Amino acid sequence: MHPVPLISQSPNLQSLVVGVFGSGQLGRMLALACHPLGIRVHTFSPERGTPTGQVCEREICAPYDDREAVRAFVRGVDAVTFELENVPSHVAEIAAEEGKAVRPGGHVLHVAQNRLREKGFFAEANLPVTPFAPVHSLADLQARLAELGTPAVVKTAAFGYDGKGQVKIDNPSQAADAWQAMKDQPAILEAFVPFEREVSVVAARGVDGSFAAFPLVENRHANHILDVTIAPAQVPAEVAAEAERLTKRLMEALDVVGVLCVEFFLLPERNQHKSIFSASSASYSDRLLLNEIAPRPHNSGHWTIEGAVTSQFEQQARAVCGLPLGSAEQIRPAVMVNLLGDLWAQGEPEWTALLAYPTAKLHLYGKSAARPGRKMGHVTVTAATAEEALEIALAARESLRGQ
Ligand code: AMP
Repeated sequence: MHPVPLISQSPNLQSLVVGVFGSGQLGRMLALACHPLGIRVHTFSPERGTPTGQVCEREICAPYDDREAVRAFVRGVDAVTFELENVPSHVAEIAAEEGKAVRPGGHVLHVAQNRLREKGFFAEANLPVTPFAPVHSLADLQARLAELGTPAVVKTAAFGYDGKGQVKIDNPSQAADAWQAMKDQPAILEAFVPFEREVSVVAARGVDGSFAAFPLVENRHANHILDVTIAPAQVPAEVAAEAERLTKRLMEALDVVGVLCVEFFLLPERNQHKSIFSASSASYSDRLLLNEIAPRPHNSGHWTIEGAVTSQFEQQARAVCGLPLGSAEQIRPAVMVNLLGDLWAQGEPEWTALLAYPTAKLHLYGKSAARPGRKMGHVTVTAATAEEALEIALAARESLRGQ
């Protein structure tokens, strides 16, 4: 095995092995991006025949709790990365003990795994965030609600994604029901953000501290799941520049090496939201609030495969292997739409209808079981304008429903 490759060295790319914990579509697209560079990928997860396993060199099937299996796996790779943040902390520890490059490091996963630690980190780093408080009991929740006011949102502190484990509270009388939904787990209460739009930045940071951000994008959700990403977001240039600046500050403060996505709430113009954040709004000098981070490539960055000079997955490969980052410049406006399992309700969709749209680029993840809400694939369209790309992408996806 190699020592951890650094930029100053000249690693033999074709003998490098990246080990990825997790085996879904993100690992699959990482493996596909590694191929042209000659870099090989091994995957570790509790499943077999996975989206990543289908396209990479080696698929290890074992529980994350199996420390010996984790150790054996990391011994066979040069650098370790993750395609999900909720792996037990011993995974990163074992990889570090074995002298492997762990990118991002375990400290990054630790912060991203828990909403309280995450929002606490934002606040400590002086990054803009909605007022929040930890909650450990119904009495706690009632007391904090009295301070923060309504509407508010209560979320389980751990293992939440796609809106799971969260309840909106419009009236203090709903506190008991909301607390019941938390099932006695530690939770976070957040002031409800009357956002105008949700936007995100995907960026990469190299071992040498180099930084490259893809343009700010707009994300539209359906049933709490990402539905459409519009790249670039149609916002004033200062907003996009501020989002990039905040992302860079966060990645430096957290000392991230790898790819990371920051999801933001974009508030309406200041004169429209100042009454909502009245007294406590002194710190809201701009329109962006950080909501959460994902320390890996993100669904809102899939468009970069066709729309940017370097994809988020190639960028992850470069950062993880200690190579120089590629250009994150956007080539053309792009729109990505997700394909959820709901489209499989009547069986396998008729793909020729979608492929008849010549600019629709189809990505299927190789998942055999389609369930409603499950991400089965996506489509990206690039065009002269974001509006045109959106129109074509939505029409292409709609063609699948007409069967
Ligand atoms: P999360 O799991 O934190 O990403 O939340 C899922 C979605 O719920 C977000 O994308 C928002 O649409 C909404 N949401 C979460 N937190 C808040 C908040 N404090 N105020 C308003 N909407 C929120």
